[in-house]
Amino acid sequence: MLFLGHGSPQNAIELNQWTAAFRAVGQQLRQQATPPSAVLMISAHWDTAGLRVSSQPTPRTIHDFSGFGAALQQFQYPASGDPLLASRVLQLLAGLQAVPDTSWGFDHGCWSVLCHLLPDAALPVVQLSIDSSKSAAWHLQLGNLLKPLRAEGVLIVGSGNLVHNLGLLDWQNHHTPEWAVRFRDQVKYCVEQQLSALTEYPNWPAAQLAVPHPDHLLPLFPLLGAKTAAEPISWFNDSFALGSLAMTSLRIG
Ligand code: ZN
Repeated sequence: MLFLGHGSPQNAIELNQWTAAFRAVGQQLRQQATPPSAVLMISAHWDTAGLRVSSQPTPRTIHDFSGFGAALQQFQYPASGDPLLASRVLQLLAGLQAVPDTSWGFDHGCWSVLCHLLPDAALPVVQLSIDSSKSAAWHLQLGNLLKPLRAEGVLIVGSGNLVHNLGLLDWQNHHTPEWAVRFRDQVKYCVEQQLSALTEYPNWPAAQLAVPHPDHLLPLFPLLGAKTAAEPISWFNDSFALGSLAMTSLRIG
């Protein structure tokens, strides 16, 4: 499983330190003895009232942003969907009233990272939404329900940012404020040492600055819920973009 800090949509068409790392991790995954056969993507950019699962065979590429150039507006990620996997996810999440969806597609939280991780778009991709009206603990529990997928060849990927404050981006100096570092470090500590404390993050002093809206942090929790206690983890891309976007990414297993 992977949590990928996606940052700017522009990363989709740039080769930089972060996207190079996505490419390297993708290569490692493909070289595993049993490489993944499908992706379940949980993106910060699909936040719905009630869980939705993309169920169409050929999802469209959604350009859910503005102010970027033509290359990004025309970008296509041609992976197929996987209606059978979508049914399986819906079955596992039946207790949470998840419903099939054929109106969404691949949002930029999904394709801006998968285009580096899996550049040939050869694996089918199903998206699962988050529901930011629900708590972190609820999203942790949701991950617990997804656990069986891991033995079925499905790579679960969360796409967001551990620190995400677009209003406080520092375009000039890229200075990272102390509260951003503190929050990122506290999240990392809890992931490693004290998972139960992480669900209390809204009460941390820096939370309002670090994640003024929970959508970019919530995709982390299903992964942690699907993780087994002894599983190894490793961090990568552990740096900030434009001051207040933590690109910190996590590999589990
Ligand atoms: Zn985003």
